[in-house]
Amino acid sequence: MFENKEQNKTSLESLGEFGLIDHLTKHFDIKHSSTLKGVGDDCAVISAEDNELVVTTDLLIEGVHFDLSYMPLKHLGYKSVMVNLSDVYAMNAEAKQITVSIAVSNRFPLEALEELYAGIQLACNTYNIDLIGGDTTSSTKGMLISITAIGSTKKEDIVYRNGAKPTDLIVVTGDLGGAYLGLQVLEREKQVFQVNPNNQPDLDAYTYIIERQLKPEARKDIPKLLKDLGIKPTAMIDISDGLSSELFHICKQSKTGCKVYETKFPLDPQVISTCEEFNIDSTMVALSGGEDYELLFTIPISDFDKIKGNPNLTVIGHITEESQGVKLVTRADEEIELKAQGWNSFKE
Ligand code: ADP
Ligand code: MG
Repeated sequence: MFENKEQNKTSLESLGEFGLIDHLTKHFDIKHSSTLKGVGDDCAVISAEDNELVVTTDLLIEGVHFDLSYMPLKHLGYKSVMVNLSDVYAMNAEAKQITVSIAVSNRFPLEALEELYAGIQLACNTYNIDLIGGDTTSSTKGMLISITAIGSTKKEDIVYRNGAKPTDLIVVTGDLGGAYLGLQVLEREKQVFQVNPNNQPDLDAYTYIIERQLKPEARKDIPKLLKDLGIKPTAMIDISDGLSSELFHICKQSKTGCKVYETKFPLDPQVISTCEEFNIDSTMVALSGGEDYELLFTIPISDFDKIKGNPNLTVIGHITEESQGVKLVTRADEEIELKAQGWNSFKE
């Protein structure tokens, strides 16, 4: 897993900027009729086709958002796309196009960027996305990746963060906390590797949580599932910073409070066993872990029968009046005021 690769390497200089862009993008095909012009002109051209367009951007910086010592470049490319698609699905929209901008230092050979783009291409093919442009430049140190995703949907289908109403049910997709714990395992193994490079880690007990960290999947299936079930959420957000932080966003923007139940949080068995091993509280991990890229949404209580028993969806609580605050009900049936503990990129 931690390798010192010394293979044939092609310097980026030898290709030049235009040669590099062409080399990296020529194998991407166009999948959507709304993509009128992709890579190759001053702008890409997208037809809105009577829909509303949604646009989102994320910037990822080496050493801040990713660590190449345990993040293979192909996974990094894939995850960089997922982070953006997740925001599009959180609007209940379909993601269709991305632009990819990169800045790289001369430490990276062409082969490294090929790996990165292999991951981007896998994401594009799996999620039916057109790569329509970007920018390529050099950096003095490290790698930066900025991806913009564009999606669309009918005006009446868009879901904002601000529509939750008291008595609405709070629903999460999938399970929580895996990505954070996967990172803890990878960080630990990195320390071990730095002391003894010949020690290859045995990660069998952590496959699921490491996959959640290195190869997250955005919930493309959820907008479709909701449509099939005849549900339009009253509010929705993706879980990138941690459940607690996302609950605060929905409550603040909807001017409500909420009550969530510790006993209802969906946790994978590997999350529970790894929490025990690391001696951390699984509820804390579910609330503050981040990077799960699941969706959090609210629905009228009258829609409960439509989601009951669905293995993808878990009701974790309900919306309350704003004056009730944002509350966690513990196993001991105590009510605790939650704090927004999302991952904050400005803390030291
Ligand atoms: P400009 O000088 O107009 O900024 P560029 O030479 O930077 O144009 O880019 C040429 C074309 O290649 C444009 O369509 C641009 O969107 C696309 N492009 C540039 N860099 C990338 C990249 N890293 N990934 C995908 N497309 C790119
Ligand atoms: Mg440019």
